[in-house]
Amino acid sequence: MRAEIVSIGTEITSGQALDTNSRWLAQELASLGIATAFHTTISDELADHVSAFKIALDRASLVITTGGLGPTQDDLTREAIGLVANVPLEEDAESWAAIVALFARRSRPMPERNRVQALLPRGATALANRVGTAPGVWMRTGGSTLVSLPGVPSEMKVMFHEQVIPRLREAGLARGATYAHKINLFGKGESDIEALALDLTARGRVPEVGITAHEATISFRITATGASEAEARLAAQPTIELIHARFGDLVIGEGDRDVPEALAMGLERANLSIATAESCTGGLISALLTTVPGVSRFFLGGVISYSNEAKSKFLSVPRGLIETHGAVSPEVAAAMAAGARERFAADLAISSTGVAGPGGGSAEKPVGLVYLGLATRAGVQTRKLELGPEQPREVIQKRAAKHALNWARLAVGK
Ligand code: ATP
Ligand code: MG
Repeated sequence: MRAEIVSIGTEITSGQALDTNSRWLAQELASLGIATAFHTTISDELADHVSAFKIALDRASLVITTGGLGPTQDDLTREAIGLVANVPLEEDAESWAAIVALFARRSRPMPERNRVQALLPRGATALANRVGTAPGVWMRTGGSTLVSLPGVPSEMKVMFHEQVIPRLREAGLARGATYAHKINLFGKGESDIEALALDLTARGRVPEVGITAHEATISFRITATGASEAEARLAAQPTIELIHARFGDLVIGEGDRDVPEALAMGLERANLSIATAESCTGGLISALLTTVPGVSRFFLGGVISYSNEAKSKFLSVPRGLIETHGAVSPEVAAAMAAGARERFAADLAISSTGVAGPGGGSAEKPVGLVYLGLATRAGVQTRKLELGPEQPREVIQKRAAKHALNWARLAVGK
């Protein structure tokens, strides 16, 4: 059982609009246990519709098209289905009545052209559209099922849920269910993590495990199938537990949870407050922390002490310390964290000082060298990060901020 999605519109082929319908539909189909094998995009040309529909019906048992059901000259989907299935278009009385009723409800005169939207290829079933004018099409042709939906995403989505899913189930096309689960890790590189997970990511493993990376957060995506959603969930469970057991502290959470969310949850559980003292991250640690709703209960505030004067004035970093060791040093990182912890009367404080680049690096202190400080009741510790020198400034800053938050997360405990 393979599906093909055909998105229609010169708007999309020309690059003016992004095809988000295909992505949404493919995910929906996956959750019904239907794998999408092909995504095709075509412009508003009748000949292209016909050839694309033929190819799709030939290689996929389910073809879903979006777009081109409107009343205008460039809306050619209905016509193309008639040509491909070799059937005439006939007015569907119910669709016509629905279109008339819609215009009446909106107290708008109905343009004569809208009448074409009531046309249906002979042998097809109209899919009611309660949120727009264009009805969709459901048709069996050449051993495959062809479903045509409007291009407007809000209409397409409602119709897919209300009109298409029940028919897919009834037709026995959507037999199974899929459950997808994402587990996020932070603290090791993608290749290091993958090397520890070769048995999991092996091709053909059931359930399937994929690995992706986004801004140094590494994610395992587990996709399990079953006869029902509950069964698919159950099938994923042992793999989820295995990943948690194997990667321990590297796991920051599931789904959308990234490092800031994980830290916020840890602070909440332990009932601890935090403050920041930032140099090279310029406020990014605080910014990331404040993306979490409700974090005001734990995050007291921070100092962006970019200059040496600010480090002394607001965080009581001794001037001599900066002169002796330089601003980018473990000693200054430690003094910044201790200063912030005291100044804000926080349970813990994190600090950053480093060379974000692209200039300012030296053999001794290259671009990407960052020291983090962590002050807790137990004392102050520092950590050295080497994030450069080839990385752009923005990446160094983001990584440093995330490492700082992650360190605090580990300190707070699970
Ligand atoms: P209408 O009755 O509104 O004309 P239609 O079925 O003819 O509907 P199109 O004219 O192809 O649909 O597209 C209408 C609008 O829907 C487009 O302008 C675009 O904004 C959006 N749209 C169309 N196709 C897609 C797609 N694949 N992904 C995201 N948006 C889309
Ligand atoms: Mg249109």
